[in-house]
Amino acid sequence: MARTVRLILGDQLNPEHSWFGRVDPSVTYALMEVRSETDYVVHHAQKVIAVFAGMRRLAQQLRKAGHAVRYFRIGDDDNLQNFGDNLRTVFRETGAERFEWQEPDEWRLDRDLRAFGQDCGLPSACVSSEHFLDARGGVAAHFQKDAKRWLMESYYRVMRVRTRLLMDADGAPLGGKWNFDHDNRKPWKGEPPAPKPWDVTHDHSALWEEVRAAGVKTMGSPSAQDFPWPVDRQEALAQLKAFITRGLPDFGDYEDAMHTSSDRLFHSRLSFALNVKLLSPLEVARAAAEAHARNPSRHPIAATEGFVRQIIGWREYVRGVYWAKMPAYASANGLGHSLPLPAWFWTGKVRMNCMRHSVGQSLETAYAHHIQRLMVIGSFCLTAGVDPAEVERWYLGVYIDAFQWVELPNVIGMSQHADGGFLASKPYCCAASYVSKMSDYCSGCAYDPKDRTGPLACPLNALYWDFWLRHQDRFLNNPRIGMAVRQAANMKPAEKAAVKKKAAELRAGMDDL
Ligand code: FAD
Ligand code: SF4
Repeated sequence: MARTVRLILGDQLNPEHSWFGRVDPSVTYALMEVRSETDYVVHHAQKVIAVFAGMRRLAQQLRKAGHAVRYFRIGDDDNLQNFGDNLRTVFRETGAERFEWQEPDEWRLDRDLRAFGQDCGLPSACVSSEHFLDARGGVAAHFQKDAKRWLMESYYRVMRVRTRLLMDADGAPLGGKWNFDHDNRKPWKGEPPAPKPWDVTHDHSALWEEVRAAGVKTMGSPSAQDFPWPVDRQEALAQLKAFITRGLPDFGDYEDAMHTSSDRLFHSRLSFALNVKLLSPLEVARAAAEAHARNPSRHPIAATEGFVRQIIGWREYVRGVYWAKMPAYASANGLGHSLPLPAWFWTGKVRMNCMRHSVGQSLETAYAHHIQRLMVIGSFCLTAGVDPAEVERWYLGVYIDAFQWVELPNVIGMSQHADGGFLASKPYCCAASYVSKMSDYCSGCAYDPKDRTGPLACPLNALYWDFWLRHQDRFLNNPRIGMAVRQAANMKPAEKAAVKKKAAELRAGMDDL
């Protein structure tokens, strides 16, 4: 075979990729920690550590198996800090005659690597990352080209049939329903006890020192000595097994619940392992379906279906939306929002308990579960009217699992409704009543969840009602949200004026909430 250089990106850590099936002395695998990736957004410290540690572990495993590996550490003198220049170094060192790379998941990298492949002077080829269940264009192919919105549920059903997950022998969905979301809405009051964290911890202080010495700007706590994220496949499989045994049984019931005593409750925290491809979506969804088949009373259908839907439905679907809509999707701002993010998004120092807890936890742990992301942090930004591009940059930086193909549609589409309702048929937002029902955040908060416009009224209330008033014309005829808009529209003029005044004051003083 021609002397070949194969590039492995930081989110392509699957040691079971067919590339590695046999040792070929003509192939060199190139992995590189580069500033072009650490600096395009300010990432959480744990994300930088986790990706680099995962890359180093994979390089070690490949070398041990006999593969040739060229590795650039972030602080190496000969590291030119971008893929193109480093690849040219490896081409020279190895006398490369061919270049190959795996399909990247980010639009930016896809564009850059294709351009590099054309200009590098070698025959080149992009191969599949062998990770996703569907092709990049699979979601787009499922929907009518001119459809105003793509409903995830219809795509999800096709994926259930295709994967045969949770289907009976006659091809009907197990339990008689496709979707058990309706059953998954309980608040959590301390029972059943939240399972013990199933993280594998290691010490990454030395790596963190290298990152710091290289001058990489990060946000949040590195937690380097007690690092909780899996960095190889064995660790990720252990995390999956622990979740299936301990978390999945109650995942459904408490999927939407939030509590100050647990940052994850029954959520899996598998998103990092999935997104860097230490785990495949099919094996994760299968593990859940098989647990249900083995013991349906311990792993009820509602919990199992809810979990499987996130993986084979939402995860594949948002990826399809990303590839269909980029690059325009990144700058969508359908509601015309323009406020800057408050400064406390980088410190967590805010009096609103729900925000302090959710933002603070995100900065401390690089993790928040879906409802914290959607109904607390995202809802605040949406109702306050924060510029969706600013919101997007923050989410892309702060979360351990934030890679643009999955983060961007969730923020721009699902959370900020900036795509005109293409992805989500209604804006996801709430007032204090929802937070108070689904969490314990409101007890002990400096603000009053029941008050709308008084001096200590919960800020979410005025912002929520003002949001519907501001966008009344757009949403009044939407059957999924008509009630909230109509309620806002039917407020007495004095009430409307008070809400608008309060919301304007809140917006003017966002940094001081
Ligand atoms: P669990 O609740 O245990 O769910 C299991 C798995 O399902 C997750 O690991 C994830 O792979 C998948 N999943 C669940 N919901 C979604 C979804 N809406 N889209 C895609 N996959 C999903 N997820 C990311 O992986 N990266 C992101 O950057 C990201 N940003 C988000 C931003 C916003 C505003 C919102 C509302 C959601 C975002 N999500 C993102 C989706 C979801 O919140 C996270 O996947 C989830 O919280 C990760 O925690 P978990 O592994 O404990 O998930
Ligand atoms: Fe959040 Fe308002 Fe409840 Fe305080 S009262 S925790 S600000 S919802």
